[in-house]
Amino acid sequence: MTEEEKKPLLSLKEVRRSYPSGDQKIEVLHGISLDIYQGELVAIIGASGSGKSTLMNIIGCLDKPSEGEYLIDGVSIRTLKSDDLAALRRNYFGFIFQRYHLLSHLSAASNVEIPAIYAGVGGSRRQENAMKLLERLGLGDKTEHLPSQLSGGQQQRVSIARALMNGGQVILADEPTGALDTRSGREVIRILKELNAAGHTVIIVTHDPSIAAHAGRIIEIRDGNVISDRANDSITEPLTAEETDGAERDQAPDLSLSALGSLAAAVSRFREAFKMAWIAMVSHRMRTLLTMLGIIIGIMAVVSVVALGKGASKRVTDNISAMGTNTISIFPGKDWGDVRANRIKSLSVYDLEALRGEIYVDSVTPTVTSSAVFYYQTAEASGQINGVSDQYARVKGIKMASGRFFDKSLVNELAQVAVIDDNTRKKFFPDTDPLGKIIILGKLPCVIIGVMEKEESPFGNPDALKVYIPYTSAIYRVTGDNHLSTIVVRVKDGWSNAVAEQQITNFLTIRHNAKDIFTSSSDTILKTIQETTGTLTLLVSCIAVISLVVGGIGVMNIMLVSVTERTKEIGIRMAVGARKSDILQQFLIEAVLVCIIGGVLGIFCSYMVSVIFSYFVQSMSMMFSMFSIVAAVTCSTLIGVVFGYLPAKNAARLDPIVALARE
Ligand code: ADP
Ligand code: MG
Repeated sequence: MTEEEKKPLLSLKEVRRSYPSGDQKIEVLHGISLDIYQGELVAIIGASGSGKSTLMNIIGCLDKPSEGEYLIDGVSIRTLKSDDLAALRRNYFGFIFQRYHLLSHLSAASNVEIPAIYAGVGGSRRQENAMKLLERLGLGDKTEHLPSQLSGGQQQRVSIARALMNGGQVILADEPTGALDTRSGREVIRILKELNAAGHTVIIVTHDPSIAAHAGRIIEIRDGNVISDRANDSITEPLTAEETDGAERDQAPDLSLSALGSLAAAVSRFREAFKMAWIAMVSHRMRTLLTMLGIIIGIMAVVSVVALGKGASKRVTDNISAMGTNTISIFPGKDWGDVRANRIKSLSVYDLEALRGEIYVDSVTPTVTSSAVFYYQTAEASGQINGVSDQYARVKGIKMASGRFFDKSLVNELAQVAVIDDNTRKKFFPDTDPLGKIIILGKLPCVIIGVMEKEESPFGNPDALKVYIPYTSAIYRVTGDNHLSTIVVRVKDGWSNAVAEQQITNFLTIRHNAKDIFTSSSDTILKTIQETTGTLTLLVSCIAVISLVVGGIGVMNIMLVSVTERTKEIGIRMAVGARKSDILQQFLIEAVLVCIIGGVLGIFCSYMVSVIFSYFVQSMSMMFSMFSIVAAVTCSTLIGVVFGYLPAKNAARLDPIVALARE
């Protein structure tokens, strides 16, 4: 042996550990000093409650001394951060527990792989190593078994394989045979001795002197004090360090591994955390689904409402453009609701003629309406007579199904001609050609010269019968009043409605020497309607967002339960070297995954709603936009992150030994 090898590998100096108990502190370890050298096989022996496990946890960096120093290869652990300690547990120590501490939902091989996952070892190499180790420990045919399908001895061998996964230069076994029958116990001791012979430093905690008898050095503890520390001369199979191959023993703990991890290792860890989250979700299917329900309903509501709003506003827009874009209606009076509007006679046929000459006017028509009963042969029905100008069809963008619209000369002649709409044709001429027939409107017989195409209008009664005659005929032959109730102007292309509206108001105000008319633009109507549907969408979206938040709180609630339920698992993961960030990541991924899947299901449900909706409502359909779908998924991801963070943080904050002690 060289001088250098005499340096202790692990060195405890006056280590004390006390636990708070009410107002006081109970000291469990009273100043323990120990040096452990490379390649030793040490047994720590003592009665139950003497502090063996406490000491072991400190040696294995699961716990820290309250006072005193602990040096690993000359480095004080006081100087190390929590991630450095995790790296030591992961790469340097191998823990073997009395109760095996395997993860019950993972196979033997997967359990063995965990330390390598946190070390960032690639998938195939990891699996290969796990297989080799299990084979070496006589479990080659049990790699896919769950812990519950293995005997105690076999489970303990799986946990030994796990301890060796990243090298396990120092094996710490806390009562490794405590839960085993004599034969399995002897087998475990044999393996530990073999490992020691192969160069591993092994520390065994036991209360059984016959097990301690296998060790080369026996340290006895009583009530937190070392009462004896002696070499064991009566060792059954003397296995000294000199006899074994020293090749593996020369490895010093590699603390540099702790700080850095390459990007590839981080990606591999992320993938594994993702897989873990998936397994956790799948193993609680019902609970996961119920958790998701809040998100599903929330996302479904948001996406459906937005799609419905878009569909509604598209329908309104379509209707309005069908009604003729760019029109301005002129009414007598000061404004909507002017009580004298009916008595104001400010709009006259002369205004109509004057407006025709303005440069921003494309076409113009008055509307003089009156109700009447229509007769044709023996049939009769009540309907509406509309006195309009020859430009009416152009103003309103109406198409003719047959015949023609009356021209200027017929208007000037006060001709008794009529253009009928589709409803009137259906009522009186279901199978005959109406052109040239005479229909009697109230008391006025008219020749039908044209039939309009069916009109899609959102306003008024869609079944009303409407007949159009020259406004001159309407004024002089039907109503006898030459004042107009409305003039509708179609604005020339290229002129903005706002400008035209201003021009019309000025023009008529000057003409009348007073502002006795008001206007309304189809643009304004469109805008108002769009604003209204927008406001409605916003309102319902707010409710939907509230349901999303409630869903998020549901996710948080279940995640908190999940963390509490899996405290033990978290403890095990930390014991084999998981960083705080690994635990945080795993639970956060789980929350986000629940929310994203919920979001996708929500979008799907919303689509189903639209299918059912279109089955019942033909006049409009829900319109999905890429934006709302992307926004929904982003939103649910955010909910996962926001509401998953607190539970994940709680999980990462757990103290490994407290977590491990939980049943
Ligand atoms: P051993 O492993 O030798 O049976 P332990 O190290 O587990 O003993 O425990 C030693 C003493 O420390 C016991 O009296 C136990 O009650 C106490 N102890 C262990 N852990 C805690 C803890 N987390 N809080 C308070 N007391 C503890
Ligand atoms: Mg113990």
